[in-house]
Amino acid sequence: PPRVRFCPSPTGNPHVGLVRTALFNWAFARHHGGTLVFRIEDTDAARDSEESYEQLLDAMRWLGFDWDEGPEVGGPHAPYRQSQRMDIYRDVAEKLLAAGHAYHCYCTAEELDARREAARAAGKPSGYDGKCRVVSPEQKAAYEAEGRPSIVRFRMPDEPITFTDLVRGELTFTPENVPDFGIVRANGAPLYTLVNPVDDALMEITHVLRGEDLLSSTPRQIALYKALMELGVAKAVPEFGHLPYVMGEGNKKLSKRDPQSSLNLYRERGFLPEGLLNYLSLLGWSLSADQDLFSMDEMVAAFDIKDVNANPARFDLKKAEAINADHIRRLDVKDFVAACEPWLRAPHAPWAPEAFDAAAFAELAPLAQTRLTVLSDITANVDFLFLDRPVEDEASWTKAMKEGSDALLRTACEKLAAAEWNAEALKAAVVAAGEEHGLKLGKAQAPVRVAVTGRTVGLPLFESLEVLGRERTLERVDAALA
Ligand code: GLU
Repeated sequence: PPRVRFCPSPTGNPHVGLVRTALFNWAFARHHGGTLVFRIEDTDAARDSEESYEQLLDAMRWLGFDWDEGPEVGGPHAPYRQSQRMDIYRDVAEKLLAAGHAYHCYCTAEELDARREAARAAGKPSGYDGKCRVVSPEQKAAYEAEGRPSIVRFRMPDEPITFTDLVRGELTFTPENVPDFGIVRANGAPLYTLVNPVDDALMEITHVLRGEDLLSSTPRQIALYKALMELGVAKAVPEFGHLPYVMGEGNKKLSKRDPQSSLNLYRERGFLPEGLLNYLSLLGWSLSADQDLFSMDEMVAAFDIKDVNANPARFDLKKAEAINADHIRRLDVKDFVAACEPWLRAPHAPWAPEAFDAAAFAELAPLAQTRLTVLSDITANVDFLFLDRPVEDEASWTKAMKEGSDALLRTACEKLAAAEWNAEALKAAVVAAGEEHGLKLGKAQAPVRVAVTGRTVGLPLFESLEVLGRERTLERVDAALA
């Protein structure tokens, strides 16, 4: 069975691109009964943070992903944080040097720049030119005497590298396009270029599924893998599949800095994890041409990496919202009520905790469930129930309160006071009030709604009044008249 990995770096906030990568790896592992390894690539002390690490774990849990090896669950290849594996990388780098697969490179940044410029001017490939592949012992001694720092560079083979990408088919990279690359910094810190394939090898990863932005590192990793196989560190070269780019506004690549790409945004707005994942799965994959809406179980059952489309996917917030709304509709009412919970208390809700009335909320919940796009909308839909007074919204007031509204409200107030307190009778009362003033129901109910809820739009009015109760309703209509 396959072994795949999700191996983010803990920098910044989790973003949707990262979530899609996690999702495809998770679905692949679960579909094939394989293993998902969760590894933290935190070798860049300058950029990584503990806070970001905590956020990653929290995001994974919120999304409902489970992993078979990694932080918190452990596993046979622990530790799963690269910052705790430095000895391993040092040891592998030594072995690569000893076997001649890597060498010390003494070129300074200025020298590299100058030669790069010259190559460019001559229309030649401008990557590393291999100058330090061969350094005589005298030269080496001279560099060392000078106190020149050196990095460790991997020696790329001189033949092209061909592999079959699981998404994009056969790809070939020629040596001119893949120059020798650094694997250990001058200060001894190992680089992503080394630690990522070394861990994939040691953790016996069979399939590397990741974003297309990493495609250019694949030929290097394959070459490094082959060297590791010679050294007995790796068993076999994994297969690679590169997930398509995600395009945002203006057909530009969605970037981490794009507000739309922040996972927190979706959490704070009240996307359901399943709704968000369903949407993100469509960035490169689909269950079938005519079914956009599905559960993660359905995705897992159907997922085949060969069905992933190589073309860039377009990020469409409206579609994400529509899919989320559908997932909200699909919940059992009691799950819907539970999902709303965070938005019914501080800091999301503006009312005092003791003002919340679970029974009253439960009565209106089914009506809200068919209307919400995101869960955070619930607060504004039910705040009239839990605030002492309706919210003050000037725009709603101006829109609903026209000339004659007072007269209508007065009649409505009388008729509501006399009505039996159920939605049907309350509607009849407002209809009757409207008739007295020559107004259709829509026109007649608008001022009542604004008087009672503070807003021009909201849940069905008469059910809302029924739950709010006679006393509070009449008090609010009175207050609007005062
Ligand atoms: N830590 C790398 C990143 O977050 C992982 C890349 C890979 O999947 O190989 O970009």
